[in-house]
Amino acid sequence: MLNEYSWLEKSLKTIHRANWYRSVKEISGLPGAVIELEGRSIINFASNDYLGLAADPRLINAAIAATKNYGTGSTGSRLLSGHRKLHRKLEKAIASLKQTEDALVFSSGYLANLGTISAVVGQKDLILGDQYNHSSLKNGAKLSQARAIDYLHCNMADLAQKLQQHRANYRRCLITTDSVFSMDGDLAPLPELLSLATKYKAMVLVDEAHATGVMGATGAGCVEYFNCNHQELIQIGTLSKALASLGGYVAGKANLIDFLRNRSATWIYTTGLSPADTAAALAAIAIIKDEPSRREQLWHNVAYLKQQLSSENLLPSESPIMCLMFDSPATALNRSQQLQEAGIFAPAIRPPTVPISRIRLSVMATHELQHLKTVVKSIVYNVD
Ligand code: PMP
Repeated sequence: MLNEYSWLEKSLKTIHRANWYRSVKEISGLPGAVIELEGRSIINFASNDYLGLAADPRLINAAIAATKNYGTGSTGSRLLSGHRKLHRKLEKAIASLKQTEDALVFSSGYLANLGTISAVVGQKDLILGDQYNHSSLKNGAKLSQARAIDYLHCNMADLAQKLQQHRANYRRCLITTDSVFSMDGDLAPLPELLSLATKYKAMVLVDEAHATGVMGATGAGCVEYFNCNHQELIQIGTLSKALASLGGYVAGKANLIDFLRNRSATWIYTTGLSPADTAAALAAIAIIKDEPSRREQLWHNVAYLKQQLSSENLLPSESPIMCLMFDSPATALNRSQQLQEAGIFAPAIRPPTVPISRIRLSVMATHELQHLKTVVKSIVYNVD
């Protein structure tokens, strides 16, 4: 019987036919470099837990203590009954890590992007975004109702041309970019981008989701890595990757944060971060500050793997994200399946997430040499 929902089956069939269908994979036990995936122990190259902190007893104990002291939920939005001392402590710790005047914590990085973009620009404004920007930046642009134009990936000549062509027709302009591109692993050319922004009087919003805790001398991100700390800009990040918790943040000038507290719908109209997530993120920031050796080990692992895989069809990368390219979604899926059979968890990333299918490897500080050698053996020598 056909009814108004019949299109769902038809759409699902199309998704299957294109090899675009996705489903969840169940992981049990603690997260780490080796995990239990669907009942089998497997080396994990699919995690955003770059520093291996998600199962760290210090984070776990901080989350337990916060739950005991403050309960399981924040019970309300921050401006009503959901604000705790812990939230402010985390915001100050983020501002200190990022070397900014202040910071604001959101319930996720996705919400931080939606809520910030739609607060700082509107109908009279222009957004120029990198074509490979994360979904949250693209949807934030839509929500804002500003005119949104993509520029070619990391192409500063194209950005300059688009600024030249369009900037004068709009009130405010916001340039948005991932700093580490999440599905490629390359970096936005921040210094060039910032100087174009200055020239054309544009604001810059940079998404440091994959850079926080990973890039820069103290783990502050790509803004630090490129020595751009002293420029005024809007920095977004997540608490869910190297910080091994859940939530997102905006860091920047005090007046930006004050404005967002008054104008950002995804912060005002949503429940404050849970005490457990807040405390775990705080514990992670303390570790990032106190234990630079974790970041050093991560980069050591990245250098080893990059060198060992240099003969492969790798996308250019300057981060712990490494992608092996394939000519079709089916080939990428098959290869990922073969790797899984060889004891390696490295997912295939396919359209519509990316234009070209790939296997994405995420390196962790807690990968041991043996884990890295196993993946090299499987990829380079095709030995399972
Ligand atoms: N920005 C980028 C670049 C990301 O990769 C992600 C997470 N996939 C997000 C934002 C969203 O962060 P969160 O998971 O905290 O919502």
